[in-house]
Amino acid sequence: MTIFSAILDGKIPCHRVYEDDHVLAFLDVSPLSRGHTLVIPKERVATMGELSDDAAAAIGRVLPRLCRALVRATGCTDYNLLQNNGEAAHQAVMHVHIHIIPKYLDADGLGLQWNVGTLDEPEALAGTIAKAIE
Ligand code: AMP
Repeated sequence: MTIFSAILDGKIPCHRVYEDDHVLAFLDVSPLSRGHTLVIPKERVATMGELSDDAAAAIGRVLPRLCRALVRATGCTDYNLLQNNGEAAHQAVMHVHIHIIPKYLDADGLGLQWNVGTLDEPEALAGTIAKAIE
């Protein structure tokens, strides 16, 4: 049971911006910037890898529309999509969710530290990942 399940069950309120049979989107209660929105599937799984194809398709279908609406409604031109999976990856709520975070020119929004490395044996790695796809 997560706080997002409680929202889906109507036990706690949210500031809803979109809902259909498979997806709910609402404002993040601690926004990184104005308009920071969370998009969740109604399917109750913790991480992206656990999501069914149907639930993933429902999210994918609506995401671009939600992004366009946020741009229109907030006046931001840029935005980040963030999706954390697992505690080490900064996931706090164990119900899969996608953050849409407007980025304003005054720098409100997601801050990133991007520590780049070098590709090590990329052909072998790409091949191993490709074989692991179900
Ligand atoms: P994450 O670290 O990716 O798991 O992010 C969880 C997000 O959920 C955080 O940005 C929180 O501010 C947000 N959050 C937690 N509880 C609520 C709530 N009741 N309503 C809206 N957003 C919430």
